[in-house]
Amino acid sequence: MIRKKTLRDIDVKGKKVLVRVDYNVPLDSKGEVADDTRIRATLPTLRYLISQEAKTILISHLGRPKGKIDPAVKLDPIARALSSLLGQEVKKVDKTVTEEVKEVVNNLKGGEVLLLENVRFNPGEATNDPNFARQLADLADIYVNDAFGTAHRAHASTVGVTAFLPSVAGFLLEEELRNLSQLLEAPAAPFCAVLGGNKVSDKIGVIKNFLGLVDCLILGGGMCFTFLKAGGFSIGDSIIQEDFLKEAEFLIEKASKDKCRILLPDDVVIAKEISSEAEFKVVEVKDGIPNGWRGLDIGPRTAEKYSEIIRNAKTVFWNGPMGVFEIEAFSNGTRQICQALAANQGVTIVGGGDSDAALRRFASKDQVTFVSTGGGACLKFLEGTPLPGVEALDNKE
Ligand code: ADP
Ligand code: MG
Repeated sequence: MIRKKTLRDIDVKGKKVLVRVDYNVPLDSKGEVADDTRIRATLPTLRYLISQEAKTILISHLGRPKGKIDPAVKLDPIARALSSLLGQEVKKVDKTVTEEVKEVVNNLKGGEVLLLENVRFNPGEATNDPNFARQLADLADIYVNDAFGTAHRAHASTVGVTAFLPSVAGFLLEEELRNLSQLLEAPAAPFCAVLGGNKVSDKIGVIKNFLGLVDCLILGGGMCFTFLKAGGFSIGDSIIQEDFLKEAEFLIEKASKDKCRILLPDDVVIAKEISSEAEFKVVEVKDGIPNGWRGLDIGPRTAEKYSEIIRNAKTVFWNGPMGVFEIEAFSNGTRQICQALAANQGVTIVGGGDSDAALRRFASKDQVTFVSTGGGACLKFLEGTPLPGVEALDNKE
């Protein structure tokens, strides 16, 4: 349940509304938007504000300019992409909180949309400087947070600003919380979580929190080799995080006590290097991976076994590719996971940028229930950690 006020709970008619969005999107070699998923995801909020004749002031970061102006991450290409998606002009200013910006804001007409410059050009953003937060707040009457992807950061535009304005969740933020919280609150059983990707350190918090929640935890990707090594198998030159070996061992033991199955691959695809030219073969995990070789995908038997569990689960959460899916030879495991998710008729939720890209390559987004627009924020939420950007919003009465 969302305990926070949303756009529906307040009157925005004709008001100046500052909307924090997460338009941190990839740009192509010409500097234009290469993937507009995160921009599209905010359209319901923007269309609602336009229909209410609100004066919409958008604020976002792009990249990591670290408090300095960096021309490579100015938001002009975002304004162009958003204009064409909305079918109306999006005004753009080159500053964030100056007197000139205030004047442009004060001249906005109902239904117009203005995009401010990259908020991370200001040193006060990442330090959550109250003076900068106050300057942001001075631009508007109401604050809306629709930046789920940044909700795990306590910055001036996500947290500080809420001290000075009525603050509510936008429709995207609400949708993210609604979908992700059903995983933590009342997931239909069997609930299966599929975790992969390259680093154990990114996923360990979710693994811990999920042990008491899921019926089955399926592990793959680079991070499963830390677990395999903890289980006593030889992993050759596969990617490993030594610092997490003890913890992995502990979690495998804890899972058996919690009656949660942790599944690890029985077979893996190995090669001497991560390259499309590399020679590769399938080996049994119990036979060990020889030195000089590394595991780069789950093997075909494992992919088959994992897929069947995924197809038959009532609730599935997936984050992290099963292998180096960017290279054809190591993509089978991830492809099969995507196809199994697509075939599942229950609740299927996907998080993570690379997982989203894989899903679009091997199946399609409309074959799953929900794809989160937040990588880090999605994982933090599923760890059970409160998100500062959400906590800071006004509570429902
Ligand atoms: P997401 O963005 O969905 O959260 P991650 O960023 O955690 O996923 O992981 C994706 C990356 O993990 C991909 O670039 C993929 O190539 C890499 N990866 C997956 N399996 C392996 C492996 N066995 N060895 C090395 N890298 C891997
Ligand atoms: Mg990633």
